[in-house]
Amino acid sequence: MACVFANRLLSSILLAGMPYFAHAQTPPPIIDMHVHAEPVALAGPSVFCAPYEVMPVANSGAEAPAAVMEWMTKPDCENLVTMPADDAEQTLQLLAIMERRNVISVVGGDAGLIAEWTARAPGRWLKGIPSSMDVRKPEVIAELRRRHAAGELDVIAEVATQYEGVAPDDPSLEPLWALAEELDVPVGIHVGTGPPGAPYFAFPQYRGRLHSPLAMEEVVMRHPKLRVWLMHAGWPMLDDLLVTLYTHPQIHVDIGAIAVGFPKPSFYRYLQAIVDAGFIDRVMFGSDMFFAPEMQERAIQVVEEAPFLDEAHKRAIFYDNAARFLRFDEDRIQSHHQGQK
Ligand SMILES: [Zn+2]
Repeated sequence: MACVFANRLLSSILLAGMPYFAHAQTPPPIIDMHVHAEPVALAGPSVFCAPYEVMPVANSGAEAPAAVMEWMTKPDCENLVTMPADDAEQTLQLLAIMERRNVISVVGGDAGLIAEWTARAPGRWLKGIPSSMDVRKPEVIAELRRRHAAGELDVIAEVATQYEGVAPDDPSLEPLWALAEELDVPVGIHVGTGPPGAPYFAFPQYRGRLHSPLAMEEVVMRHPKLRVWLMHAGWPMLDDLLVTLYTHPQIHVDIGAIAVGFPKPSFYRYLQAIVDAGFIDRVMFGSDMFFAPEMQERAIQVVEEAPFLDEAHKRAIFYDNAARFLRFDEDRIQSHHQGQK
């Protein structure tokens, strides 16, 4: 109890930004496998819920678009997050959280923002790709090859073809899997949740059945050297996920969006079932931060507060699993723990 209190006190001092403590104490490192660099100008509503407490409701498909828009633009919850006013504020907020929490992030998205973030906080980034990149196109495959040769591609993530109604084992993705295997670059693919009611407002090809991780099976059988993780952990297809993890020991997941965006009891049930089934070492932290850096802070807190995780579990999720999966060497791991990048 005393220890809990002391930790609370220390973290509130750190949150208050007292310079003496901030320098004296380097928190253990966190790898966020799931960050998007998106200009705030593209954000729709200026507030959203983290987490959402209820989902949209409509009486017919014809009414669904309005219901989803209402849900999105008039969020109703206790935990509202306000978007930063502009990109300068987004940058300041994000870098402050990453510094305070000792975070290294996979990032993909707007090239200008990424250039700014990497210049201001060098060493804190693993370069991915914008989720808008259509990895089915031959010219995009060529571009990925070029970026890799130039040292500008650490991971191929987020592959978001699920939004186009394309399953991971669709033949159009075969060149991507072959390239990733050849270059030995990990791939993060969106398998799991998009926004609720997705086909009714923005993604007409989106289908719930594409949440199933089982669509990865033939891909990993065809590409034995492939390193791949499921972004959003195939939520909520728990049985499909467990049997996929059980059958294919190389498949990993991140908890982007589902940790921060969904009702806490639901996320905790999902994560606990994964851990209870023996797959703790395949779960990696992810926030799915876009526009609002507070998403990263809140996602970290949700994991920290999970009553069924012990300290070793938390370190595995926050850092150790990703460090192993990404093949960080001892020197790099050491320097992350010392707060150097
Ligand atoms: Zn995603």
